[in-house]
Amino acid sequence: MTELKMCSLRSSSKGNSTVIYSENTKILVDCGISGKTLESSLAEINIQPSSLDAVLITHEHTDHTKGVGVVARKFNIPVFATYGTWSQMSKSVGEIPDGCRRVFDETLSFQIGDITVQPFEIPHDAAHPVGYVFFSGDDKVAVATDIGVMKEEIFEMLKGSRIVLLESNYDLFMLEAGTYPYELKRRIKSDLGHLCNDDAALAARDLVQSGTKTVILGHISQENNYPELVYQTTKLCLMSHGIKVGKDVMLLVAKRDGIVEAS
Ligand SMILES: [Zn+2]
Ligand SMILES: [Zn+2]
Repeated sequence: MTELKMCSLRSSSKGNSTVIYSENTKILVDCGISGKTLESSLAEINIQPSSLDAVLITHEHTDHTKGVGVVARKFNIPVFATYGTWSQMSKSVGEIPDGCRRVFDETLSFQIGDITVQPFEIPHDAAHPVGYVFFSGDDKVAVATDIGVMKEEIFEMLKGSRIVLLESNYDLFMLEAGTYPYELKRRIKSDLGHLCNDDAALAARDLVQSGTKTVILGHISQENNYPELVYQTTKLCLMSHGIKVGKDVMLLVAKRDGIVEAS
C-alpha cells in the first residue's frame, strides 16, 4: 500500500501551504507564503522545491496565493486552479508562464504522478473555491479549509480520509467580543466565511467516526482564536463522544510559523 504523508508548512489566516507526498509524487496545496519560507520549510522535510510535481490552489485569497507566482516562475512548477480562481488570481500573483497554467473541472478527478486528486466545491466568498481529496493505493487524505459551513456533500467527500487538515478558524465568543468591524464579523460567521471551533469539533468527531486517524486543525485566526483553545475545544468534544485522543485519533494543531507533519 502506498502511504501518503501530509505536512502543514504554514497554516493561519496569514498564510497557508501544505505538502502532500508519496514516495514518487509531491504536491503543494496553496502557496500563501514567500518563496523563501517555502524553501526553508520544505528543507526541514528534505524536499527540494524543484522536485514538486504540482501546486494546487484552493482559491485566490492572498493567504493561499501570495508566493505562487514566484515559485512557479523560479521552479517551473505547474499550477492547477479552477477557471474562476485563475480569473481572480491572475491579477495579484504576477506572471505565471503559460506552460505552467493548468485549469481543471472541479467535478472531475485528475492524476498527478501516483496520486489521484479529487477536488470538491467549498462554500467560501471566493470566485470558485475548492478543497481537495488525495488518493494513492488504498490511502486517502484531505485538505478542507476556508469552509463557511460543513455541508453534507463535503463530509461525503472527506469521510474515510486517514488524515484531514480541517479548518478551526475562530472562537465565536472571541470573534463577537473582538475589535473587528461588524461587517467583517458577519462575513466570517456567514455560510461563505470560515469554520468556527465548535463546528470544527463536530466535524472532527464525525470524521473520526468515519475512520480518520489524524486530524490537523488549522487556518487558525490570529485575532479571534489561539492554538490551545482550538485543541481543547475539539478534544473535549471527541472525549464527550467516547473518542480517546492519542489512542483512537491523533489530534494536531497546525502552526502559523512552523511545520506540522502527519504520516
Ligand atoms: Zn479564503
Ligand atoms: Zn484562507
